Amino acid sequence: MLQNKLHFLSQVADVLTKEVSTSELADEMKIILDKFDGFKDINLYVFDSVTNTMRDCIKSWSIIEDSSDIYKSFETIKGYDFVINSKAYKLPSVISDITLKINSLCMPIVKDAKSFGIMELTFEENTSVNMEFLFLMKIFSSQVSLKLQNIVLNEQSKVNVEFHDSMKNIAKIIETQYELNYIVPIIGEMLDRFITDHLIYVFLKWENEFKLVWPKACNDERIFEALNRLTPETEYILSNNDKIGAFPLLSEEGEIIGCIVARSTLEALSKRDISYLEQLTRQSAITINRANSYSKILQYATIDALTNLNNRRQFELRLWQEIATTKRQNNPLCAMMIDIDFFKKVNDTYGHASGDAVLRGVASIIKSTLRESDIPSRYGGEEFAVLLPYTHIDEAKIVGERLRKAVETTPIKINDEGSEVKTIGITISMGLAEFNKKETGEELFERADKALYEAKESGRNRVCVS
Ligand code: GH3
Ligand code: MG
Ligand code: MG
Repeated sequence: MLQNKLHFLSQVADVLTKEVSTSELADEMKIILDKFDGFKDINLYVFDSVTNTMRDCIKSWSIIEDSSDIYKSFETIKGYDFVINSKAYKLPSVISDITLKINSLCMPIVKDAKSFGIMELTFEENTSVNMEFLFLMKIFSSQVSLKLQNIVLNEQSKVNVEFHDSMKNIAKIIETQYELNYIVPIIGEMLDRFITDHLIYVFLKWENEFKLVWPKACNDERIFEALNRLTPETEYILSNNDKIGAFPLLSEEGEIIGCIVARSTLEALSKRDISYLEQLTRQSAITINRANSYSKILQYATIDALTNLNNRRQFELRLWQEIATTKRQNNPLCAMMIDIDFFKKVNDTYGHASGDAVLRGVASIIKSTLRESDIPSRYGGEEFAVLLPYTHIDEAKIVGERLRKAVETTPIKINDEGSEVKTIGITISMGLAEFNKKETGEELFERADKALYEAKESGRNRVCVS
């Protein structure tokens, strides 16, 4: 008999030295416990003090109802060694030959003498167990407790580390980016990656109406219903089935500027999901507010902060001036639209900071390749527009081709920090158009943009003429 017990304990010890998840731990324990007559199953539950809920560690940390038997056992077991068939017991100091008929045996999972969870073993109806068995289970449950402490800590800290990384990333982007139509999709993507199992929607409020900004479509009426119920005092709104949660984005003055919506595709939103969504929404609001005030300051600026080229506003002003001059003096004028090829891949592979470095790199090649009289600007995102005054299309083709080649052959630095400098190769596509007196500046650039589209369609890394 003693031999069997030692064998059991040594098998348990073996499992405990392995690096396993909670559900793997339960599976392994189940195999070992199967040797006991009448044993059916093992369940593990941990109380999460952050959200004040009992969690099933084997079934992806789902929440256990407060009214469940497990929750009652967890309350009952405090200060005791077991809950057997719903009654709490302490182990006697000596092993007597009493036997008990059991069908469920709960033992506390403890840390610092406090129970933070419960292990439940189920048995066939009225299985007989003796005192020795209970002593053995007591040793077993303390060992499992130790292991669970480690796993739970690890699993929780992993989530927390990822969460804080996401936060830092959002905060970093704002140092150089202030265009909401660039920032918001990044926030959307990040939330999406972090909140698995749920679809994430980001809305911004414009002229008293919620406009979807991420992703491209939303056709769930219940989401719009939830949005209409939001007030600045709302912490969040849940739909009737708890599958949709709407979390308002607030300005520094406390007004609603938008909303983040999570829609679960499977189960109801858990308290844990809600708590994370609240934190992420708060951080997103800070980022969006900062972007808003930054863009207000920059309304009067003429230079793009990231690339030092003219910004879009300044570009439009210069275009208008150049068109006027051209018409008056009858000079030629060309328009050039540039778009970086597969730029999204750079962001996805090396991160947005590297993407920004590429934008700066390409901008600097543009500046050094063009003539003093040319007017380059950052048109938006990863697109550049250039005005070439006093230039016919044949010349523009030569300039454009030279620029395309310069970008293709210049390795671009993507990290400024650290000792090892990493470079990557980038290509651009380009569309060119020469101004004709019957059109507006806008129409000129529309034609250049169409030519750019052709350059993309016909294989990229090339120059097309309208
Ligand atoms: P294509 O060759 O067809 O142009 O492919 P692409 O990946 O370059 O095209 P797409 O327009 O889909 O991707 C542009 C990406 O540029 C998406 C957006 O996140 C990114 N982007 C826009 N502005 C910025 C910025 O200021 N910094 C960084 N890092 N990325 C930006
Ligand atoms: Mg583009
Ligand atoms: Mg592109």
